[in-house]
Amino acid sequence: MDTLDLNRNWTEDEENQPIGRRIQRLSLHLTPVPRQLGNLQLRTLTCAARTKLNVDAKSLSVFMRGKHRDIQEKVFDFFNARPELQTPVEISMDDHRELCMRQLLALVRDAGVRPFKYVADEPTKYFAILEAVGSVDMSLGIKMGVQYSLWGGSVLNLGTKKHKVKYYDGIDNMEYPGCFAMTELHHGSNVQGLQTVATFDPITDEFVIDTPNDGAIKWWIGNAAVHGKFATVFAKLMLPTHNTKGVSDMGVHAFIVPIRDLKTHQTLPGIEIHDCGHKVGLNGVDNGALRFRSVRIPRDNLLNRFGDVSRDGKYTSSLPTINKRFAATLGELVGGRVGLAYSSVSVLKIAATIAIRYSLLRQQFGPPKQPEVSILDYQSQQHKLMPMLASTYAFHFATLHLVEKYSEMKKSHDEQLVGDVHALSAGLKAYVTSYTAKSLSICREACGGHGYAAVNRFGSLRNDHDIFQTFEGDNTVLLQQVAADLLKQYKEKFQGGTLAVTWNYLRESMNTYLSQPNPVTARWDSEDHLRDPKFQLDAFRYRTSRLLHSVAVRLNKHTKTLGNFGAWNRCLNHLLTLAESHIESVILARFIESVKSCPDASSRAALKLVCDLYALDRIWKDIGTYRNVDYVAPNKAKAIHKLAEYLSFQVRNIAGELIDAFDLPDHVTRAPIAMQSDAYSQYTQYVGF
Ligand SMILES: Cc1cc2nc3c(=O)[nH]c(=O)nc-3n(C[C@H](O)[C@H](O)[C@H](O)COP(=O)(O)OP(=O)(O)OC[C@H]3O[C@@H](n4cnc5c(N)ncnc54)[C@H](O)[C@@H]3O)c2cc1C
Repeated sequence: MDTLDLNRNWTEDEENQPIGRRIQRLSLHLTPVPRQLGNLQLRTLTCAARTKLNVDAKSLSVFMRGKHRDIQEKVFDFFNARPELQTPVEISMDDHRELCMRQLLALVRDAGVRPFKYVADEPTKYFAILEAVGSVDMSLGIKMGVQYSLWGGSVLNLGTKKHKVKYYDGIDNMEYPGCFAMTELHHGSNVQGLQTVATFDPITDEFVIDTPNDGAIKWWIGNAAVHGKFATVFAKLMLPTHNTKGVSDMGVHAFIVPIRDLKTHQTLPGIEIHDCGHKVGLNGVDNGALRFRSVRIPRDNLLNRFGDVSRDGKYTSSLPTINKRFAATLGELVGGRVGLAYSSVSVLKIAATIAIRYSLLRQQFGPPKQPEVSILDYQSQQHKLMPMLASTYAFHFATLHLVEKYSEMKKSHDEQLVGDVHALSAGLKAYVTSYTAKSLSICREACGGHGYAAVNRFGSLRNDHDIFQTFEGDNTVLLQQVAADLLKQYKEKFQGGTLAVTWNYLRESMNTYLSQPNPVTARWDSEDHLRDPKFQLDAFRYRTSRLLHSVAVRLNKHTKTLGNFGAWNRCLNHLLTLAESHIESVILARFIESVKSCPDASSRAALKLVCDLYALDRIWKDIGTYRNVDYVAPNKAKAIHKLAEYLSFQVRNIAGELIDAFDLPDHVTRAPIAMQSDAYSQYTQYVGF
């Protein structure tokens, strides 16, 4: 058989033939290095570019998918087979809420998928279900999260055996739809500022729940406006005293409060419920506001794992202070955060898949007298989408790791692991959800006008996902927790204490930081060096160590004049950059580990390429920081930039396989604009041709 010369000139006849056009288009995709990549080390890459990496999407996908693909497929198949349960593009808020409830009931009762069991026993499976359900409709994912992770999770994690016995089945089979009522009109992030009170009445052996003022109305409560029958209400526990104050504040505790009649669904006496109304997104979830007017509940309804009140009104707790009890209570709720980080990656996978598939198909312009080229062949489009694809892979491995750590923590209750998971979940939730939110806009824009059609999904993905940045802990607030933890570890290090696992690297890199950057390695710019994981990780960690050291010095200085709160605020942006830098180091470290552990050679090579792109793109984005301290010399900065651009180009060549390896079901990612074949027919049908 003759070999194909892809670079030869094409006759007009050939160009007009579909096969000829296709081969020629292919040849354009395989065209070696773009002309501007001409320097020494990149010349060596020219050869590599001719041979596109051979990636088997199937093997890669086997490595990528978690342990619980079976149950995800069950979820996908179930909804695929039930068109009446699929959310249409146009739907009113009321219909969407009812549909969402029907979807959840059908999942539990018809498909027999019972997520609650896994919340406690096998969290990795729970998160896998959540991911699949959220891909069907994000409102459904959140509704499921409210029922099982928030309302159910609060009963399991903050309550004791008596609560599990009484409520488990009803939560599991959806007879007890419930809410998680923490946020108030005046207090969201500042949970310790909540004002709702639960006063113990020793005469009747009850707690009396009250909303003392408008600012204390519970607000944004999922499942409250229409479907909820119970709520876990967070309130300050007040005990009567014999002193002049009359009551003593024991801090925020959680209480089970029935809000609607189990049979008639009527709102119960003393409870007022209002609808929070139409939202920017997630309109399948019925968020409501709750006010309590002397609502009496039995003493047993206190979720008493961390603090209890006896019949005679005595308070007992294994934890000595209000702050410790508060930390333990909130610490039990990190599962929601883990779920959001994990689901956010799934949203990113969907958006990236639609945008990249479309960019491979869509052609605009081209060289004179030649076919139009795929828009993914434009360097600018690669710049928008390829580092994003690399980040999606990076986040996939990082959040998978988080889910596993969380699962381990639930089993072992190891104290160090608890601290580690707490900081990691805060950091990853904040970092990943912010990244995904920005990327959704980039994906829409990368698909031009067609990206704006609702049927192509970016609008709903963007609107539904946007609030991931705020609920389960506002991102800016969460990043501060990460920074505070880093500073604590930093202090302990200098006092000779041990470091938590995730922070271990600081021991080494702080020492490196305290010495000056090496002027010789600062100039090394060979491809081998730049693609060496050690160089990449060192660079990430160096940056974190430097930021940590400098912010510690600044805080110390400002505290003397401004006090702790003022000094913290003076350094806030610095602290946020530190937290993000640390999370990026953790993400890269996980990615490097995952590449190493991939058993299939071709998948490993593809992952290595993607990992290098992730690392070098990040270093380049922050090149000013590295240049400022001469961590990289000008020649090295230039080489990093060129190599990152070039890797983008190489990743583009396997982009189709890389998105296929996400293994997302057709009905989730095949937006009409991104159909593989017969590209626009579904789209034109949708419009009515
Ligand atoms: C759709 C939706 C569903 C929800 N579901 C529930 C639910 O089921 N149950 C529930 O209890 N709550 C729920 N919430 C509430 C949610 O958890 C809160 O909105 C969230 O905790 C943030 O609180 P906030 O809205 O009061 O914002 P605020 O805390 O007022 O934050 C506003 C802004 O101030 C900034 N800010 C605040 N503090 C600081 C600080 N220390 N440093 C720097 N910046 C700061 C934030 O970054 C943010 O940009 C939901 C909210 C929405 C919108």
